[in-house]
Amino acid sequence: MDCLFCSIIKGDIPSKKAYEDELCYAFYDIAPQAAVHILVIPKLHISSADEINAQNSVYVSHIFECIPKIAKEAGITNGYRVITNCGSDACQSVKHLHFHVLGGEQLSEKMA
Ligand code: AMP
Repeated sequence: MDCLFCSIIKGDIPSKKAYEDELCYAFYDIAPQAAVHILVIPKLHISSADEINAQNSVYVSHIFECIPKIAKEAGITNGYRVITNCGSDACQSVKHLHFHVLGGEQLSEKMA
């Protein structure tokens, strides 16, 4: 399967790593939309939030356990936003589940 984020996990495509363990990988977004913009992805290919189920949700819960330390290690000290875009109306461009962690500055009140 040809998946950009699977290639990033494998190291075939370079990325700026923020965190890694056996279940997830975090790296800096190539086109940041905040002072700090990190993507956190499961090492298992899950195409979107719409594909989360009882068999793979351990990857998602683990990611949410990791996000506070990823944010802290990235220097985010005053709050952050976690977003996942799911499907075409939400403009999901990479079909591998990913959580945007945005922070490091005052964010807009608007989310859409
Ligand atoms: P989404 O639009 O929610 O699917 O988010 C995909 C994100 O992946 C965008 O914010 C892109 O800037 C980011 N992105 C795409 N290619 C790369 C890459 N090679 N390295 C880091 N971030 C990337």
